[in-house]
Amino acid sequence: MKKWGLHCAAIAIGILLVSCRANRQEGMPGPAGSPNAGAPAAPGTTVKAPAPVPVKEPVNPENPELTGGNERNSRSGVPLHRTPLGKQFSNVLFYSGASGAKVAALTFDDGPDVTFTGQILDILKQQGIKATFFIVGERALQHPDMVRRIVQEGHAVGNHTWDHPNLVKLTPQQVQDEVLRTEEQLMQTLGYRTDLFRPPYGNANAAVLQQIAGLGFKIIDWSVDTRDWAGTPTPQIMDFVRKEMTPGGIILQHCAGGRNENLSNTVAALPQIIFYLKSNGFTFATVPDLLKVPSRI
Ligand SMILES: [Zn+2]
Repeated sequence: MKKWGLHCAAIAIGILLVSCRANRQEGMPGPAGSPNAGAPAAPGTTVKAPAPVPVKEPVNPENPELTGGNERNSRSGVPLHRTPLGKQFSNVLFYSGASGAKVAALTFDDGPDVTFTGQILDILKQQGIKATFFIVGERALQHPDMVRRIVQEGHAVGNHTWDHPNLVKLTPQQVQDEVLRTEEQLMQTLGYRTDLFRPPYGNANAAVLQQIAGLGFKIIDWSVDTRDWAGTPTPQIMDFVRKEMTPGGIILQHCAGGRNENLSNTVAALPQIIFYLKSNGFTFATVPDLLKVPSRI
């Protein structure tokens, strides 16, 4: 009996060794996303336990999500004024100032936050430039001091909805709530309203534009898209600016992101954009100054 037991144990150990060896030769895949995932181990090497995949911390953990999703996942990239709606709504849809003067309007959407908005404000202050910030109401509620700082430093603000939905998916009542709730928040934080509005992702249809115009807003599009919303590297951002900028141009950028979005390229590009435009004879204006409309109502 004892001999038989030893024999069984030897067979079991043998099977175990063969099985381990087979696994080593095939290369056991690591967890999805690990550096070793699916890669065969080199012959004769020992497969180490894969290092834990680092959990990517949100860049703006304190910021509410953008309801319609991150810009890069939800934006078509075609500005409204280049669709048939541009002509239909040309009396309320603006994408540029007068083409006679070399003036540029820098615009920053989706803020405020406490990560990137302050860095952008620091650069603008250093350069003596006034810009326009399209504010997400829910984020204004969370960071009222940053909204006040934007205005104290001479910048204009516009309405960018309460929580950044895709407006074409909402009912008229929901569209109205998104817009007016943000107005109330700006009134509470700043003591005045704005009649400038930019739809999230630049998405709208005729019904939405009609409704927003009916609420008394001017809809602010852009003529230069830096594509910073897509994580575009700084040299390419500069290419877009060089290619698309014309006198009176409105430049689209962002000062806050969705979850896990990093706007470091926007911050890095900003001094280069300013230098390029100044070198080419441009001065800077807020959108209300560019369009010669009131900045507060
Ligand atoms: Zn936006």
